[in-house]
Amino acid sequence: MTTDAVSRTAGSSDDSLLDLARALDAADPLAVHLDAFAEAPGVGAYLDGNSLGRPVRDVPERLASFAREDWGTRLIRSWDEQWMALPMELGDRIGRVALGAAPGQTVVADSTSVLIYKLMRAALAGPATGRTELVIETGNFPTDRFLAEGVAAETGATIRWLEPDPVHGVQVADVAAVVSERTALVSLSHVDYRSGALADMRGITAIVHDAGALMMWDLCHSAGVVPMQLDAWGVDMAVGCTYKYLNGGPGSPAFAYLRSAHQGVLRQPIQGWWSAADIFAMGPEYVPAGDIRQLLSGTPPVTSMLAMQAMLDLLEEATVDAVRDKSLSLTDLAVRASDEVLAPLGVRLLSPRDGAVRGGHVTIGHPDFRAVTQTLWAAGIIPDFRFPDGIRLGLSPLSTSHVETVTGVLAVRDALESHVG
Ligand SMILES: *Cc1c(COP(=O)(O)O)cnc(C)c1O
Repeated sequence: MTTDAVSRTAGSSDDSLLDLARALDAADPLAVHLDAFAEAPGVGAYLDGNSLGRPVRDVPERLASFAREDWGTRLIRSWDEQWMALPMELGDRIGRVALGAAPGQTVVADSTSVLIYKLMRAALAGPATGRTELVIETGNFPTDRFLAEGVAAETGATIRWLEPDPVHGVQVADVAAVVSERTALVSLSHVDYRSGALADMRGITAIVHDAGALMMWDLCHSAGVVPMQLDAWGVDMAVGCTYKYLNGGPGSPAFAYLRSAHQGVLRQPIQGWWSAADIFAMGPEYVPAGDIRQLLSGTPPVTSMLAMQAMLDLLEEATVDAVRDKSLSLTDLAVRASDEVLAPLGVRLLSPRDGAVRGGHVTIGHPDFRAVTQTLWAAGIIPDFRFPDGIRLGLSPLSTSHVETVTGVLAVRDALESHVG
């Protein structure tokens, strides 16, 4: 093909992709929510909502009125009036909106890492004692692996490493092959942070229970974008971020789910005063709370719990099922656009092609992507780069349009062409 022919082909495929995106946006029942997010001047496509969700438009006002009234005027009275209960109230809300969890089993506290530690440690010292193996996978997010290694060192547990397919992630059969009467806990991510592979939460949890072990899910990349039924599927424990698809802002605290049957039985290791049966008894000895509050340790970060409430309002209105439908539409379109304009340049799809086993993001690979990402950020096109050569297109459904998605993929193509020269 001549250069002219190449650019004509590219041009027409750009137009047809953008036309398709416009049509999908016009038919999108959730498009009304795009305006609910604060504007970001100079940003042409924000494709990182899976790492740091955008602020809802009224967050600045929520923060200001908190400082003025709840804190500024009500002062310490606000602890009694609302803040003491906030970790449990927000937890119940996340449970209802995003997790399929009945009240009293979810709490907001600490970071994801600290909550994973608490629950892993509790699982390895709990009724499963005598069981000495912790099953995790080599591709899981570093903090999950590092914590497991620390907990194993503390408790004498042995880690059984799964090495799943890097694109399709952990399968039921992978787990079935390693669990036994020695397994205490299996800890996996629901959606793989790199490939976006969506694990069969129900099937894997059932296999783990058949072996008599406990199951913990890391929901960082699925809470708020992939529907789930923690109660109905028998999940024992789960932890997730609130700053990704729950738009809580940088460093907003995580949530933990602990099935009611385990409460008052499992003991978490950071037994601060907020986890005591009577917080204000100030007594000589520690008696743990018998309910979900036992997962707390110290004073909760109230200020950091404000922004996520705005997103939970939106999610509750939109419903996670509808969000999932739009998520599939966005990720399908990203895959299609990538096939059309990036695959000819040697870009590989590093996510499952089948939407049914894919979460909310799509990852693509090319050796030049580190440099390409820098070019894109400078131009206001913001995906993220994941070692060794992946670009993640994180498409947070309530704040991302189909046109934005195609714009992002076309920008990747342009940047890649300029790097290849
Ligand atoms: C983002 C993420 C974390 C982050 O943990 P923090 O303690 O909030 O830093 C943990 N696990 C997974 C799978 C993640 O995607």
